[in-house]
Amino acid sequence: MALNARLDHRNPLVFDTHELGRRPGALQRLTRTVDAPKDLGIQGVIGVPEGAPVELELRLESVMEGVLVTGTARAQAEGECVRCLEPLTLESEADFQEMFSYPDADDRGRVIAEPGDDAEDDEDRLFLEDGLFDLESVLRDAVVLALPMQPVCQDDCPGLCSECGARLADDPDHHHDAVDIRWAALQGLAGSLEDGEKDEMSGAEAGVDEKQEK
Ligand SMILES: [Zn+2]
Ligand SMILES: [Zn+2]
Repeated sequence: MALNARLDHRNPLVFDTHELGRRPGALQRLTRTVDAPKDLGIQGVIGVPEGAPVELELRLESVMEGVLVTGTARAQAEGECVRCLEPLTLESEADFQEMFSYPDADDRGRVIAEPGDDAEDDEDRLFLEDGLFDLESVLRDAVVLALPMQPVCQDDCPGLCSECGARLADDPDHHHDAVDIRWAALQGLAGSLEDGEKDEMSGAEAGVDEKQEK
């Protein structure tokens, strides 16, 4: 993980571990309600609108290597039903657990000279920076995992009528007569085209003839 941008303690998703301290076993619980960052969810499917409240419950535990963060996020997600396309809201609850390592410690808690030495190992690791950690990427991954890939307004949503697009949940008795009037019109058109081929006339002229015959 790149340590380029310095963490800002005023960012509501940045947490301070100074109060927790570095004594292994120390625990701190905290709750915080934050505004949802943008793109908190599955893009184009369902997500927590930017700025909507996200309730966070965190448990910080000091361990040899760093700070183990366990928590739950609760928020209301908005999307649309994949079957009937109606807007829907969903109370979502996402659990997460993540280790934020001290920059000067390796996996076994040993102090190493250069934090960037084992670059491959470090790619997926998150680090404390001046005792601060940024929860945003952890929160986003957890919320995406907790949300349904195919949200439905109700488990048995019957979807839309394949013929006219009506929402079937609103109209359980919805049905169409066996022969749809548009289908009859298509059959008439097919008949007129056949006549046109026989007479070696263009479709337009055949259509005129068809009308005159009637
Ligand atoms: Zn639906
Ligand atoms: Zn219909």
